[in-house]
Amino acid sequence: MSLIVQKFGGTSVADAEKISAAARRALRAQQQGHQVVMVVSAMGKNTDMLVDLAEQVCDDPPAREMDMLLSTGEQVSVALMAMAIHNLGGKAVSLTGGQIGVQTDSSHTKARIRSISTERMRRLLDNGNIVIAAGFQGVDDELNITTLGRGGSDTSAVALAAVLGAEMCEIYTDVDGVFTTDPRLIAEARKMSNVSHDEMLELASLGAGVMHSRSIEFGKKFNVPIHVRNSGVFTDEPGSVIGPIPESEDRAVSGCALTKAEARITVTGMPDKPGASLTLFERLADVNVAVDMIMQTAGHDGRADISFTVLESDLKGALDAVAEAADVLGTIDVLHATNVSKVSVVGLGMATQAGVADRMFRALAQAGVNIEAITTSAIKVSCLVARDQGLEAIRAVHAEFELGLAPAGRATFADSLAAAKKAKETDAMAVVKRLQSMEDLTVHGVDLDNSQALVTLSDLPDSPGISADIFESVAAAGVLVDMIVQGIGASGKTNLSFTVSQAQLPQALTAVGKVVEKLGSTVESLDSIAILSVTGVGIRSHTGVGLRMFGALAQSGINIELVNTSEVKVNVVVDGSKGKPGLAALEKAFADVIG
Ligand code: ADP
Ligand code: ASP
Ligand code: MG
Repeated sequence: MSLIVQKFGGTSVADAEKISAAARRALRAQQQGHQVVMVVSAMGKNTDMLVDLAEQVCDDPPAREMDMLLSTGEQVSVALMAMAIHNLGGKAVSLTGGQIGVQTDSSHTKARIRSISTERMRRLLDNGNIVIAAGFQGVDDELNITTLGRGGSDTSAVALAAVLGAEMCEIYTDVDGVFTTDPRLIAEARKMSNVSHDEMLELASLGAGVMHSRSIEFGKKFNVPIHVRNSGVFTDEPGSVIGPIPESEDRAVSGCALTKAEARITVTGMPDKPGASLTLFERLADVNVAVDMIMQTAGHDGRADISFTVLESDLKGALDAVAEAADVLGTIDVLHATNVSKVSVVGLGMATQAGVADRMFRALAQAGVNIEAITTSAIKVSCLVARDQGLEAIRAVHAEFELGLAPAGRATFADSLAAAKKAKETDAMAVVKRLQSMEDLTVHGVDLDNSQALVTLSDLPDSPGISADIFESVAAAGVLVDMIVQGIGASGKTNLSFTVSQAQLPQALTAVGKVVEKLGSTVESLDSIAILSVTGVGIRSHTGVGLRMFGALAQSGINIELVNTSEVKVNVVVDGSKGKPGLAALEKAFADVIG
């Protein structure tokens, strides 16, 4: 018998009427012949209210007690949902995470799922029940209640769908599907018929709050077809499928996202030697802080500056971690700022099409938005901007890439559903059997690209339009740019580095030369660099990946020039002569997790 998982978010169970509507939907699916597992979130803003209460009684609530408190929100809704089903004449049993057997690690408020038992759910389903599972929660080895992080019910739902081999995981929410950007921010945002896993992983981790990014890791690893749709009673319209294929192969950019509350940390005076950044990132990984937009400026006098961004909600933990690293690293200065937001564009097509970065930079410049930092990966470009310009920035970018218009020849909802179901037939379990626990890191491989060169511009003025001028000039010369990293050094001047193929280095230098001459900045280049990368699933959120990379390279005495991260890849640039030894070091370091 086919099984479906239906997840209802907070707004979809906000009151008695909505709970009954959700119950009717589940019963209808059961009557259509499916076994049904519902995953339910806390009602409305209940979780926010509990967080607020905790903060009223305690300045720094212990994480264990926070989990004990927050898990009650879901316990209320599952019980009410079961009652609503009984009221409609159906059979249902509600279960907490612990009762199901959702085993997690002990990192309270950010726990990762280790395993989920299916026996009890199966037994209940086989007896004709609808199983109602509390989202967002689990238990650790000692039966302490844990939670998966805000928005984590999506992750519970896709994980349950994975272990139960569900035909579909339906995510019922308060919008019609996944949009090109948050429809509450930009009225022109368009519902996408489907989104590829890699794009959704990026969008979710870059601010598209419609899905918890870790749920997409499960979707990808276990090939779970995910259908995001509106829980509104009268709509039975299809929403968006998150599966293996993108909406359009032709478009460079599929969607954009804004992380409003971002924070920047700058550490100056780092010892410029292998292992220094390792010490720093080790401390951050220990407290599970995911770091983004890492910018390292070249060392001088044996010292270097490194700056990176974290979510503002992680800032306190991050600063404590950096302070600990300072004890080891000696005299470093730490600065931070919270008046920044991150705007990003994402698209699988970007990997093969030029001209995304310069268009984005120009659109921002035309909107009068200054770019404070830039990082890219194969499928995204992110810019850090002043927080009070975040909305203008996302609007400008959404318009520039005409995301409001449907792409010609796009895959239909039915195409993507078929692709998702087909992928499900492949043996996802083979991947999974290698994992010790469900949410373990999956690394697909390590690679070396020895064909690139590095261009670094120093002391650029920090004003709108500079990056646009540079990359338009480079694009006009027909040069394809791969990685871009730009950031403001401690001096207030901007440094910018990018990689191009060795063959195109002369053209790139001529092109930037023209722009830079007017600005009084300096240009340097390295004609042979090596880009070492690790690819996998959920790489950035598994804070340990960057760490293992830095660790392995430091042990081999290899210095890292640049870093960029995405959910599917971490790249580091090292000196050209260090490519082969670097690759060997990484192969060894990741041997246990490479498929
Ligand atoms: P739920 O309680 O159902 O889990 P969430 O509030 O977590 O709902 O997620 C739905 C919200 O996500 C929407 O109301 C919308 O404002 C926001 N959102 C952000 N980015 C996107 C996007 N790209 N597409 C759709 N919704 C988005
Ligand atoms: N109730 C939790 C939260 O508000 C989990 C969820 O809704 O996904 O974060
Ligand atoms: Mg949510």
